[in-house]
Amino acid sequence: MYYFYKNEFVHKQDIQISPDDRGYYFGDGIYEVFRVYNGQIYEGAAHIQRLERTASEVRLQLPYSNEEIIDIINRLIQGNNLVEGTVYMQITRGEAPRAHPFPTQAEPIVLAYCTEVKRPLTTIQNGIQAITQPDIRWLRCDLKTLNLLPNVLAKQTALDHGVQEVILHREGTVTECSASNLMIIKDDVLYTHPANHLILHGITRAVVLRLAHALHIQVKEEPFTTNQLLQADEVFITGTTVEITSILRIDGQVIGTGTPGPTTQRLKAEFEKTFLQ
Ligand code: PMP
Repeated sequence: MYYFYKNEFVHKQDIQISPDDRGYYFGDGIYEVFRVYNGQIYEGAAHIQRLERTASEVRLQLPYSNEEIIDIINRLIQGNNLVEGTVYMQITRGEAPRAHPFPTQAEPIVLAYCTEVKRPLTTIQNGIQAITQPDIRWLRCDLKTLNLLPNVLAKQTALDHGVQEVILHREGTVTECSASNLMIIKDDVLYTHPANHLILHGITRAVVLRLAHALHIQVKEEPFTTNQLLQADEVFITGTTVEITSILRIDGQVIGTGTPGPTTQRLKAEFEKTFLQ
């Protein structure tokens, strides 16, 4: 596997990360995870757009054009013969002695590499279980920054409870999950939290809403409560790696019939038809 670091394609063992990298000691950086199916980048333009938006909101100047970023990703895919997997790219604000103000001299540092990842077919087919937890993150969850400690803690809490995901809520209003967006179906209507500052604007969230419109499923981007969540007919998560995965039990309570629901199945079938055939 070869990596991209500081303007070069290099072997992993040749990368030297400086202790002065602001990404390392402040989490002062941003990232994206691109999905690769069949050697091709999935929804590349949408990922680039989100990266640009996050960069501009945290006042970090991207060192490359959109075309150059896509070129780096494609060269990683080709150079590593990646057929199915992900490309991780992070950009930190650069190297400077530890001090809060933006450094005047530092250049942003790009790190990118790919990982082979198979589609999680078992959970896509059979669903998962989740627990609910308070959402303790900051108020800019729409920005894809390196500061993921609350998400890491939430995910570990799920694993400690023997389930796969945590559904986050702010005083009873469901936002999203530790590493995915959440949607529910109630009386044939799809509900999901609006794409504001409280959730990450997921690429697969947008894809699923597009597919729902195409399938004439009514969509309401409105907040809903944990009670409505538990009363839903179907609950599922969306994300670049989880795709569309049903949640069948929440806090030990069975959702709907306890099996992946019919609307979720229609969306999954449409997703596979659109991206995987
Ligand atoms: N919310 C959070 C907190 C995430 O980390 C992610 C990405 N894994 C998502 C939602 C889903 O976003 P995407 O569809 O772009 O992967």
